[in-house]
Amino acid sequence: MEWSPGDRGNIEDMRGRSGARRAVPVGIGAVIVLGLLSWATGTDFLSLLNQDSGPAQSAGPQGQVQTTPQEERMVDFVDAVANDVQDAWGQVLGGRYERTRIVLFRDAIESACGSAESATGPFYCPGDRKVYLDLGFFDELTQRFGAPGDFAKAYVIAHELGHHVQHLIGLDERAQLGATGANSASVALELQADCFAGMWGHAASESGRFKAGHVELEPGDAEQALRAAAAIGDDRLQKMATGRVMPDRFTHGTSAQRVESFKRGMDTGELRACGVAVRGTD
Ligand SMILES: [Zn+2]
Repeated sequence: MEWSPGDRGNIEDMRGRSGARRAVPVGIGAVIVLGLLSWATGTDFLSLLNQDSGPAQSAGPQGQVQTTPQEERMVDFVDAVANDVQDAWGQVLGGRYERTRIVLFRDAIESACGSAESATGPFYCPGDRKVYLDLGFFDELTQRFGAPGDFAKAYVIAHELGHHVQHLIGLDERAQLGATGANSASVALELQADCFAGMWGHAASESGRFKAGHVELEPGDAEQALRAAAAIGDDRLQKMATGRVMPDRFTHGTSAQRVESFKRGMDTGELRACGVAVRGTD
């Protein structure tokens, strides 16, 4: 994939306020130490206590985040992909598309959909219309699921933004909360999000895009996304976890279905191919 870093306008960086790094309750000992420090240095350290005593979240969005150059590059990558996917949806849906952001977190996070842990994997919350992602998932994708590569990661981002599109145009209304099974509305929605991710892949395959400031796929990239789609099919995940396949508990579709849906979007680039009746957009 060819891409260049942007201004991170598609990112809400909550890595410094993640739930697992709860603020340590400041005990009386710390207060005494800070008092002594204030006295010794002339700086009022005690006032810092009051500014920074939120219940579970100590650092602000720009708070101290222990990071690496590689991780920062990954943040830029997520931003670049999210930007491109959203530009593409803006083209398809016109004024009906509303931009959103990817909330980056570590370990655990509070969303309008409740609290979530990284183990849940990336998700979209219709309540606040945001995508939530712990960058650690990409390591899992590479190591545990055997799906490395930039486009595998981009597919995950595009899939989650696909849920945002479904929410914006009301396609998610018929999915009942908690209903699972091979024929459930949940599986249908997930497969459609895969198809939507494929639609972006179609758009991003056009040559000359990188020169025009967009993300551009390179030969062989599609394979990475297909491998990722195959890696996270319900049948494969169930087999990995329990050794058997339970279709009545499917939530996302089989590996074969996920690959097929993604390919359908990627081959055609058309909403219609993803099961959406096309209305006039303005
Ligand atoms: Zn999904």
